[in-house]
Amino acid sequence: MKPRDRLRIAMQKSGRLTEPALDLLTRCGLTFRQSRDKLFCFGEGEPVDLLLVRDDDIPGLIAQGVCDLGIVGRNVLSEFQLTGGREAEPLAELRPLGFGRCRLSIAVPQELDYREPRQLQGRRIATSYPGLLGEWLRAQGVDAGVVTLAGSVEIAPKLGTADAICDLVQSGGTLVANQLREADVLLQSEAVLAGPLALPADERGDLLELLLKRLDGVIQVRESRLLLLQTSRHSLEAVTRLLPGGPQPTLLPVAGQPDQLMLQALCAGEVSWRQLEEIKKAGAREMFVLPVEKMLA
Ligand code: ATP
Ligand code: ZN
Repeated sequence: MKPRDRLRIAMQKSGRLTEPALDLLTRCGLTFRQSRDKLFCFGEGEPVDLLLVRDDDIPGLIAQGVCDLGIVGRNVLSEFQLTGGREAEPLAELRPLGFGRCRLSIAVPQELDYREPRQLQGRRIATSYPGLLGEWLRAQGVDAGVVTLAGSVEIAPKLGTADAICDLVQSGGTLVANQLREADVLLQSEAVLAGPLALPADERGDLLELLLKRLDGVIQVRESRLLLLQTSRHSLEAVTRLLPGGPQPTLLPVAGQPDQLMLQALCAGEVSWRQLEEIKKAGAREMFVLPVEKMLA
């Protein structure tokens, strides 16, 4: 491969991962010139370009060196590592990205009383993930037939071409609609940033490092919440003890109420209603949970 001074990221052209992936890259300060119906988007602000492709092609494009990075489901990346990538360079999951969450699961007809993987012995299982399914069956010590299908896996039991399926599940709605139910989970998946094991030795290595730093900042802020509340000095200790994670809270006086304090805390994740109710019981009032847009420490 000829050295390149621009970084190239492969992402899904049109599908579940497209909008959130573009949104994430935009938040990292990347902008692109081409319209989205084209295959190639030229990066304007930074020397980072996009290639818009089918998600299944992404790991191969990175392994061949056509692209440096890719945004793809862990399910697709792992399957490639097991089946498609033997001759190619192994790839790394550089960052989990927190969207496109789903599970790769075994689903069986509703009437089957599934208790353990051994019940799949000698049965036929339809899937688009023969690598991951085969690995799981081996680990369970189960000998079953793997029927590889490119799509519409969920109708295989109804058609009589398989006894069970191994497919992606999010809400489970598709399974119910096909009289199937989730029986076992093989893999928890989400979109990930995939890339080579080692940083490229040319300028792209520095660019990649810069992008990873921005990405970490964006992910951290996306998951942060600012919690504001009022408490009496008397309840402060009890309230503080219940605060979800994060650095030390900031305390401010409340004008005209020397006994009261305003507390501000940065929380590392979602703050649930239940947590709020507990903190309130400990003596807090006037509670607010705010999303954080940007952060510069
Ligand atoms: P194409 O091959 O044309 O790029 P696709 O049909 O294979 O598209 P999508 O259905 O858009 O792909 O799914 C892309 C990814 O979204 C999946 O690989 C998976 O990681 C994730 N995903 C999240 N929830 C689901 C779900 N319920 N069903 C399928 N994929 C899901
Ligand atoms: Zn696909």
